[in-house]
This record gives sequence, structure tokens and C-alpha cells, in this order.
Amino acid sequence: MKSRRSFIGKSALLAGAALLGKSFQVNGQPAEAPVPLPSLKGRKVMFLFGGWDGHEPTKFRDYMVPWMENEGATVSVYDNLDPYTDKQLMANTDLIVQIFTMSQITQEQEKGLLEAVKNGTGMAGWHGGMCDAFRNNTEYQFMTGGQWVAHPGGVIDYSVQVTDQMDAITSGLSDFNISSEQYYMHVDPNVKVLATTTFSGEHSPWIDGCVMPVTWKKMYGKGRIFYTSLGHNLSHVLMSPNGMTMIKRGIQWASDSKYGPAENWVRPIYKG
Ligand SMILES: [Zn+2]
Repeated sequence: MKSRRSFIGKSALLAGAALLGKSFQVNGQPAEAPVPLPSLKGRKVMFLFGGWDGHEPTKFRDYMVPWMENEGATVSVYDNLDPYTDKQLMANTDLIVQIFTMSQITQEQEKGLLEAVKNGTGMAGWHGGMCDAFRNNTEYQFMTGGQWVAHPGGVIDYSVQVTDQMDAITSGLSDFNISSEQYYMHVDPNVKVLATTTFSGEHSPWIDGCVMPVTWKKMYGKGRIFYTSLGHNLSHVLMSPNGMTMIKRGIQWASDSKYGPAENWVRPIYKG
């Protein structure tokens, strides 16, 4: 009972601090309340879908686009990457949501995308639609912060640990189980990890116990980048609703690149 009471006390403190917008103390240490997430009201979003069909680009389009519109965004939908070459269109876009597994991106398209994000357009995505797209393009991977390399065992049961309760994207979410592909990724050390998963050695014994980022945020120039490796199929993240909540909150956060406060949270994980 003692720990339950102290948890409630801490939650009340968090809520109070969020209302006041002030920093406060947790266990005697200074802490910051999560920066509140913006709504999508008035935001200009570009949704690009295509690539490998196994990741259900059309199903995700039919789920995500109406949700973003209900939240007040104006969403332009494209089944190709040509919009990336339209400088003016890109400069007027607040957020790019892309599901385009594997595929090819032209040099001109990649340049347009990277330039816009560097200048403050946000980008959000999930699973292979963002971090297994354009395998030949390392500068694109420099932007996203990771690249899929394996999913041992295919669709399996695994658990996700929410590791950051102080970030608005994961605040209040508990750990959860999911039946889907458990992504083994090459990850940029310069990302803020919000959730992780631990591999068993069942399918690849040498990775037994490996802790792998599942959800992260990062910057690329002035652009906010959100990514989660969840979402092999739409039904997988709908059956584990904390996964879909993370995607929706990540979209909200990344849409605020041009308007929200700069967040300074680079924390080197290796000792220099
Ligand atoms: Zn997949």
C-alpha cells in the first residue's frame, strides 16, 4: 500500500506541475513535467504511402488520415514520392508521415525531403515504412536514426517496456505485450529512447538479453523526428492500444517542429 500511495502522490504532483508549467522535485531530485502535446489543429500534413504491400500502406492510410483530419489537420495524400521535389510545397508542410517500405528514392526526392526536415518540417513514421525504406540512402538513415536489419522468428509474442514516463509521448503508458515482428535495428546513439524491448535467444541465441530501442525521438536540423518499430500490420497495433497511442502522440509531437519549444535532450550513451 505504501508504494501505491507514493505513486498516487507522485502522479498528483506531476499533474499539478503540468498545470503550473514549472519544474518540481521527484524523490528530492529536480524533474520536469512532460511538455504538453499540441493538437493537430491547422497543421499541414503530407501522408505518403506505397512500397512493400505486406506493411499495409493502404490500410494505414485509411486509418491514420481520417484520424489526423478529425484532429484538425489538413492532410494531402500521395501514392508516390514526387512531392518531395516541390520546394514550396515542402516548405509549407508541418509534418510528413511516410509509409514506404524498401522502394527507391531518387537523389532529387531525397534532397528535397532532407532539406525540408533540416529547415523544420517534422517527420513521423513506424516500422519498415520509415526505417526500412530506401536501403541505399545513408543520409536518409542519418535523419531517421535507425535501420531495420532483422526480425528473428517473424511474428512472435514479445513485450515492450515504456522506459520514459517524463516524456509526453509515453507519459502514463504502461508496459505491454504485442504479437508482431520484434525489430532488431541498427540505432543512432544520438536519439532519445522512449520504449525498449528485450530479445530472448530463442531464434538467434547470440542476442539473448539484448535490449533494443522500440520508440524514439530525435532532431535532424530543426526538424523533429518520431519513430516506433511497432506496426507490421495495422491490427497488431490496434490490438495493443498503447502502441497506437504512441504513434498518435508521436505524430502530434513531430507536427510541432516549427512552433514548439526546442527540446534539449541529447544524452550520450557511451562514455567519451
Ligand atoms: Zn514488417
